[in-house]
Amino acid sequence: MAIVEDRVGVQHARLHGVEQLPSRITQRLLSTLAGHVVSSTPRAATTTAVYTGGSLADMPQSATDDVAHAVRVARGVQPGWAGTDIGERVQVLRRFHDLLLEHQDTVVDLIQAETGKARRHAFDECLEPALTTGYYLRKGAKALRSRRLEGMMPFLVGARQHRQPKGVVGIISPWNYPFALAISDVVPALLAGNAVVLKPDTQTSLSPLFGVELLRRAGVPEGVVQVVLGEGPVVGTSVVENVDYVCFTGSTRTGRDVAQRAGARLIGCSLELGGKNPMLVLDDADLDRAARAAVSACFTNAGQVCLCAERLYVHESVRAAFLDRFLARIGKLRLAASYEYDADIGSLTSARQLQAVSRFVDDAKSKGATVLTGGRARPDIGPYFYEPTVLTGVTKNMACFAEETFGPVVAVYSFTSDDDALAMANASEYGLNGCVFTRDVRRGRHVGSRLRVGSVNINDGFAAAYGSTDAPMGGMGSSGLGRRHGVEGIQKYTETQAIATQRAGLFPPPRWMPYRPFARAVTATLRGLRKAGIR
Ligand code: NAD
Repeated sequence: MAIVEDRVGVQHARLHGVEQLPSRITQRLLSTLAGHVVSSTPRAATTTAVYTGGSLADMPQSATDDVAHAVRVARGVQPGWAGTDIGERVQVLRRFHDLLLEHQDTVVDLIQAETGKARRHAFDECLEPALTTGYYLRKGAKALRSRRLEGMMPFLVGARQHRQPKGVVGIISPWNYPFALAISDVVPALLAGNAVVLKPDTQTSLSPLFGVELLRRAGVPEGVVQVVLGEGPVVGTSVVENVDYVCFTGSTRTGRDVAQRAGARLIGCSLELGGKNPMLVLDDADLDRAARAAVSACFTNAGQVCLCAERLYVHESVRAAFLDRFLARIGKLRLAASYEYDADIGSLTSARQLQAVSRFVDDAKSKGATVLTGGRARPDIGPYFYEPTVLTGVTKNMACFAEETFGPVVAVYSFTSDDDALAMANASEYGLNGCVFTRDVRRGRHVGSRLRVGSVNINDGFAAAYGSTDAPMGGMGSSGLGRRHGVEGIQKYTETQAIATQRAGLFPPPRWMPYRPFARAVTATLRGLRKAGIR
């Protein structure tokens, strides 16, 4: 089934400031990408070229009718896609994996233009869907395979578990990792036989649209993946109101709204939400290693990573030595608006994010916190740059004590025992990621297992757990529900179905047999099976 052409918003697509963008980002590319947006409206939203603050592109906007239309089209084509052999879907996604690596530079350019992150962080972002796709190419079919279960009575009843696709999956994604957090969730949903309606954030829609373009080039049939764009409370809500399952990544506040709507419709959802992640430096830590890792744990993508450490607990005995090393490393970081790999840290993504980060730091300063380094915006580099910032003396009355800052800001606290550190680290409504630095890996694992978080990294900030795509990733508490990656990350896109086969009649008993002796015989059989360890 073809998408209705007049809903496609190519006519609105316009690229601004081409001369300041990498040459791979062309008007032609933009028109192709905008062509994937299901839009029947003349409305367009202008996105920002983050390094300059100028206009980047006019992106078509969808109406709620467009969402309903996209879901209808998806529903029409999904059974055909689900009916293909899994091996065929694996072939398509294998081609996608190859295309992704082939067009990596374009992906990285687009991510940088619309997020302002440093090229090395944009590269990391591009790598993640490749890793995830590779993982599901190897493990996905097995995770989806039907399996034999124990039947009610050995030999007499057989049972199997099948997995059926949910149908149309809605994927709603945020602006901080717009490519990875859209495409890495689309891939397993497709492999499981679903159609997808994707709603990225408009500001960062070019890179996920390019991902969809590559999926189509790889052979995903028309209509099986569609993209809608627009205001979250309108278009995002409409996605939740129309699809069969929602995979949401974003703030805890929006996640609660999505969960309520999904609950009212009795559809499932996974929620990947915010964090206020603790990093623990124990008294026996390798301090050089901890300081190096702390820089990426706290300041990757200018701190706009759900997994970034915002609370740094250092054992009292090593606090001074650790801070010397940490601050020395921060002093050497290069902040730059560059499409080369020469910048260590890039920009915040929006004026709104800059205001939020400035507000958190100013609030802490005004209430008595000490700024060890940073604490100011850098408009001389780009309109939304903010320096990596380390605070001490942060107390409960300051917003950055418990709320997610989502910027390059970390508060340092000290502790005297592992129990003390764990009590402080666990005193948070969030539970996404945590990390423990120690030379004693067993001790690290033990301490880590007592953190109430979905993923723990020993001697690393977050990349070890996140990059281990076999390991499920997600949050406890206000950090979310459900997991991405691993077996759970694909099985969540399926409904389980039990199919039982009666091989020989057992119930009801034969007509000639009165029920009382039948009941006795069944009870005796159960006893016998139990003794034999069969049941
Ligand atoms: P957000 O909740 O404002 O928006 C996320 C997406 O939801 C956007 O596409 C938005 O348009 C849409 N949306 C907004 N209101 C909606 C509604 N009422 N119904 C449906 N959709 C709606 O979040 P954000 O500011 O884009 O992202 C930053 C947040 O995301 C941070 O809290 C960060 O920690 C979190 N995050 C979590 C993970 C994770 O894996 N746990 C990953 C990245 C970001």
